[in-house]
Amino acid sequence: MLATFSDITPLLESKRVCVPALDIGGGQPDFLLGVLRACQEARCPAVMLIWGPAAQDYMGLDAVAALTAHYARDSAVPVVLHLDHGTEELVRKALDVGFRSVMFDGSDLPLDQNIALTRRMAELAHDHGASIEGELGKFGREQAEQAGDTALTDPAEAERFVRETGVDILAPAVGNAHGFYNAPPRLRFELMEEMTTRTGVPLSLHGGTGIPMGDVRRAGRLGMRKINIASRLHRDFAEAMKQANREVDDRKFSWRKALGAGREALHRRALEYIRDLGCEGLIP
Ligand SMILES: [Zn+2]
Repeated sequence: MLATFSDITPLLESKRVCVPALDIGGGQPDFLLGVLRACQEARCPAVMLIWGPAAQDYMGLDAVAALTAHYARDSAVPVVLHLDHGTEELVRKALDVGFRSVMFDGSDLPLDQNIALTRRMAELAHDHGASIEGELGKFGREQAEQAGDTALTDPAEAERFVRETGVDILAPAVGNAHGFYNAPPRLRFELMEEMTTRTGVPLSLHGGTGIPMGDVRRAGRLGMRKINIASRLHRDFAEAMKQANREVDDRKFSWRKALGAGREALHRRALEYIRDLGCEGLIP
């Protein structure tokens, strides 16, 4: 059975670590297996991201949930399949087809509307036995380059947001952004610490590609429990496939070799993140 993020939170709290949440390319099986097998090998909870806006158009959320649940059945480590940046429609769909971890992203809405809609989504998620992440503040790709401190989440607003919505996890803007950074980001550790204290819920760090691992370990000591990584994995997969393709002429092209190279690249990268973040051996 698929796990909720709340199922693994106490373990992460007790070790004060931040677990890598790894994007699985809309549920593409080689992404899924590359990541899952690395987590199993390293005895680390497998937190796998499905990016909401793309997921439904690709394999369909129902197929992704069924496939992941199949592999979770005999897994020695908990498997958390997490809908990332869901709309209201996608959250409803994901919960209906068996996701037990979702994010509702209302960060584009004015605060009061974000709170109202996130609260409705949180009630729905909890009725389904799922945990839910909410977003407050903006860390879109473009914000990285221009916004500076203006985009940071206000801890007082974070406290109100969590209290009034009932979310289990909070994704705040603390100097992070999606995609590849032009320069290493300057994370605001004092904000993380204050938000952890005031909200009492685990924090989620988006835009993990390119954040120095030392910063993430430090964030883990301040209540950051999940770091989302997508862009790095997508690039690794594409480069491994291209490389495998270059090594053969067209008449001998092997889909198994090409996709296998992508899968192995993700396996290696996932192990690297798990070890760097101190998450190896979390599951005895
Ligand atoms: Zn994100």
